[in-house]
Amino acid sequence: MAEKYLNLINGEWVEPSTGKYIENRNPADKDDLIGLFPASSEVDVNKAVAAAKIAFEKWRLIPAPKRGDVLKIVGDMMLAQKDDISFQMTREMGKVFAETKGDTQEGIDTAYYAASEGRRLFGLNAPSELPNKMNLSFRVPIGVGGFICPWNFPMAIPTWKLFPALVCGNTAVFKPAELTPKTAHTLVEIIDAAMREVLGKDYIPGVINLVHGKGSVVGEAITNHEDIDLISFTGSTDVGKRINAVAGASLKRVSLELGGKNAQIVMDDANQDLALEAVLWGAFGTTGQRCTATSRLILHEKIYDEFIKKLVAKAGKLRLGYGNDKGVDVGPCVSESQRNSVNEYVQIGKNEDKAKLVLGGEFATDGTLSKGWFYKPTIFVDVTPEMRIAKEEIFGPVLSVIKTTGLEDAINILNNTKYGLSSSIFTNNVNDAFTAVRDIKAGITYVNGATIGAEAHMPFGGVKQTGNGHREGGWTVYDFYTEWKAVYIDYSGKLQRAQIDNY
Ligand code: NAD
Repeated sequence: MAEKYLNLINGEWVEPSTGKYIENRNPADKDDLIGLFPASSEVDVNKAVAAAKIAFEKWRLIPAPKRGDVLKIVGDMMLAQKDDISFQMTREMGKVFAETKGDTQEGIDTAYYAASEGRRLFGLNAPSELPNKMNLSFRVPIGVGGFICPWNFPMAIPTWKLFPALVCGNTAVFKPAELTPKTAHTLVEIIDAAMREVLGKDYIPGVINLVHGKGSVVGEAITNHEDIDLISFTGSTDVGKRINAVAGASLKRVSLELGGKNAQIVMDDANQDLALEAVLWGAFGTTGQRCTATSRLILHEKIYDEFIKKLVAKAGKLRLGYGNDKGVDVGPCVSESQRNSVNEYVQIGKNEDKAKLVLGGEFATDGTLSKGWFYKPTIFVDVTPEMRIAKEEIFGPVLSVIKTTGLEDAINILNNTKYGLSSSIFTNNVNDAFTAVRDIKAGITYVNGATIGAEAHMPFGGVKQTGNGHREGGWTVYDFYTEWKAVYIDYSGKLQRAQIDNY
C-alpha cells in the first residue's frame, strides 16, 4: 500500500477535507507508485489562509535576524539531506541525479542568502526639506502570500519564493505542482522543523502551510481568496494570465514567471566545440523542460552544415534512461500528457514543407524505456522564424535550427517571439558580443554560455510575455516581498508645513 501524505495547516499534518488523494508516479517507470497526495479543496485553502493570517501578526514581530536564523537551519538541514532529496526528486520528475542535485543546491544557496538578508533588509534615509526633522524609509512585510509552483524545479522554485517571503516577515500558503508533491512535502517538513528548533516554546503555527491539489481547485481558491495579499506564480503563460486577471480584481500584488522560447546564436567566429557542448546541454538537459531551455539554435550560414553534422552525431549518442541510474544523460518527459504535447509539436514541425527532421521525432520505447514517458532527442533544421516550432514553447527535447546571415539578422530572429526569458550568443568578437547584450530582448543573456544555469544570487526573470516585470533571486526579489514605509520625525516642537513654510 502506497504511503499517504498530508497537508500542513496551522502547524499540524492533516487529511484533506475531501478524503481524496492523487497518485504520484515515477515518470521513468509508471509501475513505481511513490505515494498518495491530498486532492484538497477550497475548504482546506480557507483553513490554511485563516491560520496564516493569524500567524502573520506574530511572525512579523519576530526580529528579521531571528527569522533569518530559521533559514540558516533550513539550509543546514537541506545540505545534510541533499542526496536523498535529489534522489527522490529524480524519482518523481525524471531529470538526472546530477541535475536534481543542482536543483537542491540552488535551494540551499537561496536559504543561506535569505538567512543573511535577515541582517540587511536595508532601508533608505533622505534629508528632510525642513529643519529639525528626520526622514526614514524602511521595509515592512505584506501579509499572507499564496505560492503556486510548477514541477520542473520542484525544490529551487519554491525556495526562491518562500525563503525571501518568510525572512521578510510574510506567512505562506504553498501549493506545489500535482506532479512533484513529494519534494514539496520534504521542503515544508524541513521549514517547519527549523521553525520549531529556532523558536522553541514560542513556535508559531501557521507561518508555513502546505495545501496539495489541483490548480483548477486549490490554485484558483488561493488566487481568489480575499485574505491572500500577494501571489507568486511560476508556470505557463496561459495560467499566469488567468491568475493575473483573477488576482487583479482584489488588487493583490502578483509576481509571474512564465514561459520562454530561448535561443542560442552561434556566429562564424565562435569556438564551435564550446558552442556545441552548450547547445546539447541547453536543449536536452532536463529533457528540454526548463523555462530557460535552448529551444532554437540560430546558426551562422558559414558554419551551418558543418555544425549540424556534429550536433546530430553528438545528440544521437545521448543516453536515455532513469535519471538515478549511472551514465544516463536524458530522463523522461514528466508525464504522459507532457510527452503527448511534445509529440504534437513534432507533428506540426513535420507538416512544415521546408523544415527537415534530422533526429528523433518519436517516442523512445526500447527495453525498459517502454515503462516511462521517454521521447527521443529531436532536431529540426532549416526552420524559418515564422514557423510555430520557432515561436511557441514546446517544453521538451526538441531543437529548431534556423540559419542566419549575420549578427543583426540573428538578433532579429532571436527577438521574434512573444517571450523574453533567456538567450545566448557564442562569438569571439567583442563588438558583436556587446551589441547582442544591448539589443537582445530578454531578462537573461549569456555570452559564450548555454541559455540555462542561472545563479541564485542574481535577478531571474524575463521580459514580454515571460512575466510581469518582477524578478526572483538575488536582492531584487526582496522588493516584491516588502512594502516601503516612509516615516517623518519632527523634533522642532512646532507645526512645520512642507512645501508651504519653507518656500
Ligand atoms: P502550469 O501553468 O500548468 O502549472 C503551474 C502551477 O499552476 C501548478 O501548480 C498548477 O497546478 C497551477 N495551476 C494550474 N491552473 C491554475 C489555475 N487556474 N489557477 C491557479 N493555479 C493553477 O505549468 P507547468 O506545466 O507546471 O510548468 C511548465 C511551465 O512553467 C512552462 O511554461 C515553463 O516555461 C514555465 N516555467 C517558467 C519559469 C520561469 O521562471 N519563467 C520557471 C519554470 C517553469
